[in-house]
Formats: sequence, structure tokens, C-alpha cells
Amino acid sequence: MPGFEFFGDEERKEVNDVLETGILMRYGFDGPRKGIWKSKELEAAICSRFGVQHAQLTSSGTAALTTAMAALGIGAGDEVIMPAFTFVASFEAVLSMGAIPVLVDIDTSLTLAPEAVKAAITPKTKCVMPVHMCGSMADLDALKAICAEHHLILLEDACQSIGGTYKGKALGTIGDAGTFSFDFVKTITCGEGGVVMTNNKEVYTMSDAFTDHGHDHLGVDRGADLHPFLGYNFRISELHAAVGLAQIKKLDNFLELQKRNNQILRSYLEQVPGISFRTVPDPQGDSYSFLTWFLPTQAQTETVIEAMKAAGILAGNFYWYANNWHYIRKWDHLKTAKSLYALSDDQKNAIVKLQNTVFEKSDAIMSKCISTAISLTWTEAQVHEKGASFLAVLKGAIS
Ligand SMILES: *Cc1c(COP(=O)(O)O)cnc(C)c1O
Repeated sequence: MPGFEFFGDEERKEVNDVLETGILMRYGFDGPRKGIWKSKELEAAICSRFGVQHAQLTSSGTAALTTAMAALGIGAGDEVIMPAFTFVASFEAVLSMGAIPVLVDIDTSLTLAPEAVKAAITPKTKCVMPVHMCGSMADLDALKAICAEHHLILLEDACQSIGGTYKGKALGTIGDAGTFSFDFVKTITCGEGGVVMTNNKEVYTMSDAFTDHGHDHLGVDRGADLHPFLGYNFRISELHAAVGLAQIKKLDNFLELQKRNNQILRSYLEQVPGISFRTVPDPQGDSYSFLTWFLPTQAQTETVIEAMKAAGILAGNFYWYANNWHYIRKWDHLKTAKSLYALSDDQKNAIVKLQNTVFEKSDAIMSKCISTAISLTWTEAQVHEKGASFLAVLKGAIS
């Protein structure tokens, strides 16, 4: 999964280009920067690699989601339907816009269950936000149909599935807008960073200004820019963009290694009766950053986790059901509305209600699910060894 495993001379070279001029900011300083525009170059590389018309870099994936929502006009009182299994950033971005996160069940794809989305639609619903978790995707055709029927915005959180596709199109480029994160543990990294991608020119123009205090970026003199609307500072720095530029050139290599290692490991797990795998709506499109598998029961899953721990092979295997960061069960700070600043009554009521909301379908799936992060540095021989030790532990624990 993570590009940081292959940090090297290419990244150092790109960063050094920036250090040579000392112009660490992405805008202005046209003379002293001597033609070095790493952020612009990375945006162009993103458009060409992922087949999207516009890309706006941001300081993080969370900032990218926030920016996309602002540009799509999502704000106070609007309901955003999102899955109960995601990273906390997804609801943070919704709340920061004054909007209301509406959490619903996932299915065995580990992403939004289309029928749960349908059931959650109210007159206040403005947006459906699938989160393509752990390298694979939501059922985008089904979600697009729901959005079209109810006139809703489709915003893809593709932060965890860089390089994945759905029916030939890159994840993150299919909805009205989509986002990637380039934080340190993502498929490619800038250290910190993110991007909003869209084929809608207006959404792009608004994202561009929003991330830079509302600057319209129309003139040559930054000081004379107009501010057509309010913005924030969600800018990426040239140093971060430089790292990303080296990383995106390695992406296809990362994806190949992920696929090879993922498929070898899977061939071992497939030998264990009772083990099944997540549903992938377009099997061709998996980015293979994780191998996600299910055991028949929760008790067996817990036994396997303990056995893996005892055998010293638990690292890199995630039992999200018991994890603080990714699943609703442990988001107590959300459910008790522990906010430093005042939330609106609408927001508070919606999130406090989650204390008594049962996610029966999601619990049934997540309690039996383990995701194995696929390392780029494993050699083929090492993956075979890993597979063999998985087999030994699993046979002991669940037979
Ligand atoms: C990483 C991630 C984000 C955003 O992350 P940042 O750390 O802010 O870049 C958003 N959503 C998901 C699902 C993520 O995994």
C-alpha cells in the first residue's frame, strides 16, 4: 500500500529542485522560481494519469474533501449520506462545512450499501459520499442511478484507492468530484497532501480559489487578485508537491507489486475452507492495496486475531471492528458530540442519535473481517513464506 516504502533518489531530486530556488510556495514569485512549478506539474500529471480534466492540490485529503464540498455548494443543514465504515476524515469534513453526516450500513464490498442509501434519503439530502475503502470500490452504477433519480451530488472519497478503477475509469473521477489523500501512508504520498478531481470546470475554479483565501488567480500580481467569495488556506507547498511528483511516476510500478503480492497471498487463504473475500463491484478495478477476507463467525475471527498475535504475524492485519479510527463502534467522540466549538442543533441531534443507532448489517460484516495491508517491499519469496505462516495459523485456529 504505502509509497513511503519506496522513498529515494527520485523524491530527493524533485525536492532539491525546489530547495535550489528556495521558492516553497506554489503561487507567485515568477522570476525567482526559475520555471520550477512542482504543484502545477503534479496537477497536470494527475489529470493525465487518471483521465480527468481538472485537479486542484490541497494540503491534505481532509482539506480536499472540505474543498470539494464547498465547491459543490454543500453547507449548513445539508445531509450527506456516508458509510459507517470509513476514516474519521470523511465526517470531519462534513461537519466542518456545517453539514450533517448521515451514516448508513455497508455491504460486503465494505462500502456504501445502495439500498441503505435509498432508505436514508430525506428532503434535506444533498450529497451521497461513497468511500472506496481499502483499495476497492463502491457500486458506482447503483449509486449514480440513485443520485440521478433524486438529484443528489455524488462525491467520491477515493483517498484509499489511488489507482483503482471502475469500468475503466479511475476511482475519484466518476462522481461530480472525487478526492485522493497523499498523506504518509497512502498509495502515493506527498508527506501530507490531497487533491480534488473533477470534470466540471466551475467546481475546479471554485476549488482553486477556495484553497487560497478565495484568490481568483486571474492576474499576474497576486496582491491584486480579487476575492469573489470566502476561502481558507488549504494550499499544498512546493516541497510536498515535489515528493508527489516523484511518487506519481512510480505509481504503475507500485500497483503491479501490490497486485502480485496480493494475489500470491490470496492463493494461500483460498486453501482454507470457510474463508471468503470482499465483494469487488468491478473485479478488474481493484487497486490491490489490501487483501480483505472474512471468517465464518466473529468468534473464529477473534481466535484468529489472537493466534496471529501469538505467532508474531499480526502487524499489518487490521480488525477494523475493534479499531478506533475506521468504524462507527468506537467513534465515541463523534457520538457524544465532543466538539471544541459549537455545532448546530441539527448536527448535534444527528450525531448524538448515533449512540442508539444499530448497524446490524455492518456489524455482521465487520466483526468477521480482516484486512491485510499489502507491502510493496515483500519479495515473491517473502509473500510465499507469509502465506504459509497464515495457513499454519488459520488451520490451527479454525479447524
Ligand atoms: C486518509 C483518508 C482521508 C484523508 O486523509 P488526510 O490524512 O487528511 O490526507 C480521507 N478519507 C479516507 C477514507 C482516508 O483513508
